[in-house]
Amino acid sequence: MKGTFPTEKFQQIETPFYYYDTALLRKTLRSIAEEAGRHQQFIVHYAVKANANPKILNIICQAGLGADCVSGGEIEAACKAGFAPDKIVYAGVGKGDWEIKLGLNKDIFCFNVESLAELEVINELGAAANKVARVCLRINPNVGAHTHANITTGLAENKFGIAMGDMYDVIDRARAMNHVEFKGLHFHIGSQILDMGDFEALCNRINDLQRELEQRHIQVENINVGGGLGVDYTHPNRVPVPDFKAYFDCYAHHLELRDGQRLHFELGRAVVAQCGSLITRTLYIKQGTHKQFAIVDAGMTDLIRPALYQAYHKIENITSDQAIETYDVVGPICESSDVFAKAVDLNRTNRGDLLAIRSAGAYGEIMASQYNCRKLPKGYITEDL
Ligand SMILES: *Cc1c(COP(=O)(O)O)cnc(C)c1O
Repeated sequence: MKGTFPTEKFQQIETPFYYYDTALLRKTLRSIAEEAGRHQQFIVHYAVKANANPKILNIICQAGLGADCVSGGEIEAACKAGFAPDKIVYAGVGKGDWEIKLGLNKDIFCFNVESLAELEVINELGAAANKVARVCLRINPNVGAHTHANITTGLAENKFGIAMGDMYDVIDRARAMNHVEFKGLHFHIGSQILDMGDFEALCNRINDLQRELEQRHIQVENINVGGGLGVDYTHPNRVPVPDFKAYFDCYAHHLELRDGQRLHFELGRAVVAQCGSLITRTLYIKQGTHKQFAIVDAGMTDLIRPALYQAYHKIENITSDQAIETYDVVGPICESSDVFAKAVDLNRTNRGDLLAIRSAGAYGEIMASQYNCRKLPKGYITEDL
């Protein structure tokens, strides 16, 4: 089964480019609203780093999600797209002074603080600005996610977050500061997680921490469990919308929330991955000795995930119905890792054919670079065509 694309309209557009199916994005957002909406205390934010295309941000903002930012630039992009500052949370291990000041000036909902050193700087800059910064502490829960080594973040010794053993000390320090207000705890264990058992393990860890905190008479108003829900890269047509019901129900069943407590989520990939495709034109078919190469005009500069993470993306020839043949699909960049897929089955491919590299809406366009002096790819939504 192939995806359906407006291929006639694609012929008018310079390749390579990103195409976002906004009907699917909206369907995904409705599913999130419906499944999270069953649980009164749940608040969902969109992790802007997955895709900051202004049109995509605007649609997500209109659906009522908050924004999770990891830089000052993302805070600016989120505000510009219409996200209210009181729905913005801001994480990151290396927040610069200008970025902290920006968050203070905008009066964002919360800084997710990743070290004691950062907390002290936020307190100082808060004093200088005569503001009180709301903070959650990002705790490293030492929960392993069964995902690619480059995208796990929750193990014990890690640049992200505060070690569990240091948590009480940092909370005490925060509560003694005049320009920060302790608002709760933040966690994020990794990305592309499909085993609900990993999220369940996080819930169990948070339940333990919460009991210990209560023994010390520390109340936690907000718990933020980050993002990480994965998508089905192998079957984008069969599973276009992630299983948000299983995801939110997992937290509802396993996390012991207290009355009045709010549970925040920061979903990135699961919101935008499936609605995006990288559309590329076939330049040449090169016959090798044992294989054939489809050389296309998109490269790792447009979509780096295969080169960076050995990530799989389904590829379809959307302008050919001829018999299936096997190809290595490669880009034009002068790097041998510039390969989208090896030995994939495609309808017989000729020069000029359009290929869709699927599930590319997350960590695609936003990670594009100009290496080899290439142009950045443009992004089009359905309504643009
Ligand atoms: C990257 C990130 C997310 C989003 O991760 P996804 O896997 O795309 O859902 C959420 N929170 C934080 C702190 C992150 O760094």
